[in-house]
Amino acid sequence: MTKKGTILIADDKDIGRDILACVLKSDYNIVTAYDGKEAIECINESSDNLSIIILDIIMPVVDGFGVLDYMHSRGLMAKIPVIMVTGNLTSDISLRCYSRGVFDIITKPYDINIVKQRVNNAVELFLHKNKMEELLKQQTEELEQQAAKLRKTVKELRISEERFKMASIHSSSIIFEFDVNAQNNLILDGVGQFKSREMKHCTFENMLSLVHPDEYKHTRKMFSRILAGSSEEKSDVRMKSIGGHCDYNWFSVTLSPVRSHDGELIKILGSLRDINTQYLETAALRNKAELDMMTGIFNRATCEAKIRARLDRLKKGKRAAFLIFDIDSFKQVNDRYGHNVGDKVITTTAHLIRAWFNHSDIVGRLGGDEFVVYMENVPNEKLLLKKFNNLITSLAENAEDDENFPHLTVSAGACIIDKPTSFEQIYKEADIALYEAKADGKGKFKLFEQ
Ligand code: GH3
Ligand code: MG
Repeated sequence: MTKKGTILIADDKDIGRDILACVLKSDYNIVTAYDGKEAIECINESSDNLSIIILDIIMPVVDGFGVLDYMHSRGLMAKIPVIMVTGNLTSDISLRCYSRGVFDIITKPYDINIVKQRVNNAVELFLHKNKMEELLKQQTEELEQQAAKLRKTVKELRISEERFKMASIHSSSIIFEFDVNAQNNLILDGVGQFKSREMKHCTFENMLSLVHPDEYKHTRKMFSRILAGSSEEKSDVRMKSIGGHCDYNWFSVTLSPVRSHDGELIKILGSLRDINTQYLETAALRNKAELDMMTGIFNRATCEAKIRARLDRLKKGKRAAFLIFDIDSFKQVNDRYGHNVGDKVITTTAHLIRAWFNHSDIVGRLGGDEFVVYMENVPNEKLLLKKFNNLITSLAENAEDDENFPHLTVSAGACIIDKPTSFEQIYKEADIALYEAKADGKGKFKLFEQ
C-alpha cells in the first residue's frame, strides 16, 4: 500500500513512540528520535522528505521547544506541520506552542483514532498549502519573465525612437508617429508648412482632415491596411497646412508599422516628403505628352491607349458607348472666317464636349475637327442623344452670344459596346454611323445598327 509520507516521531519514552508508530505505520513511513538533539539531526538530514513531525515537549538534551526554535530559525515551521504531545496541557504551554507555529497539540494518553485523524488532517492541509504556494511561485516567476521582456521591448523602442528623431532632424521629411492605443499623433520634427506648433500634438483625425478630398478615402485606407497587417504603404497625396490657409501641396506619404516582440502593432510611423515642385513638373511633362496642344483634351495616341485599356477591363454585363463628333462643313469656316476663327471653333467645341460628359469619360481629339468620347455605364441610347443635343444647343448659344463665333453644327456617330470588342471595331462602327449622319443632312446623331 502506498504511504502518505514520512513521520518523524520524537519522544524519549519508548512506549510513547511505539504507540504512535503502531497507529500510523500503515499510512506513513516512520522515523524515530529519542531526544530533541536526535530530532534536529533527523530534520537536518531529511527536511524535504518529512510530511509531519510529532514532538514530545519534555525530552532530555534538547526539549520540544528547543526543536521548535531550531525549525523556526531554518524557516521550516511553514513547510512541515508539527504536532506536539504532552501529558500536562496548560494554557501556558498551549500559548507557547501555538505562538511558535505548532499545528496541533495532542494530550497523553492517546486516543488512537483521534491521533490518526489529526495527523491526516495536518498532512493533507500542508500538502494543499504547499502545492498552492508552489503554483503561486511559478506564476510569479512567469509574470516576472514577462515583465522583463516588456522592459526590454520598451528600451528597444526608446532607442529606435531616438534613431527616428535623429533621422528626421537630418532629413527633409516630416516624421510622425501615430500611437495605435493612445489615438494621437506626435510630429517629431517637420519642415516647410508643417513645422508649426499646432502640428506637435496633432491627432489622427486632424491629420486626415488636411488631406485633399480627392485623396482622403485613399489615405484613410492606407492606415486601415497597416492596421490590418500591411508592412508598408506609400502614396502621393495633396495636403494643406493646419490652418487651412495654404494651398494644397503634393507630399509623398509613407506609413510603416512598429510591432512588439510578439507581433502586436504598437505604432504607425509615417513620413511626409514635400514633392510638390517635382510632382507639378512631372505632371506638366506628362500632360505635354498626353494632351492635344491646341485644345487641352487627350490627343489621338492617348485616347486610343486609354480606350483600349478600358475595353480590356470592361466587365461582363456592362454597357459602354463610343462616339465620334465631326464639325459640319468646317472647311467653309476656315475659308470664310480664317484659320484663327477655325482654331477657336475647334477649341470651343472640344471644351463643350468635355463639359457635357462626365469626368470619368475619355474625351479626346483625334485630329482636325474630329473628336471622340468613350463612356461607361450607359443606361440607354437616349442618354447619348441627349448629350448630343446639349452640345448642339451650346454651340448655337455660343454663336448667339459671340458675333465672331460662327453658327455651326456637328454630326455624331455612335455605337454601343456590350460585348468584348476592339478599338478598330468600335471606331469602324461609329464612323459608319457618322457617315450616315452626314449623309442625312448633317447636324444629326446616328447610332450604329448591325
Ligand atoms: P464635313 O461636314 O463633311 O465634315 O465637312 P468638313 O468641311 O468639316 O470636312 P472635314 O471634316 O473633312 O474637314 C476638316 C478640315 O479641318 C480639314 C482641315 O482643313 C481643317 N483642319 C484640320 N485641322 C485644323 C486645325 O488645327 N485648325 C484649323 N483651323 N483647321 C483645321
Ligand atoms: Mg468636318
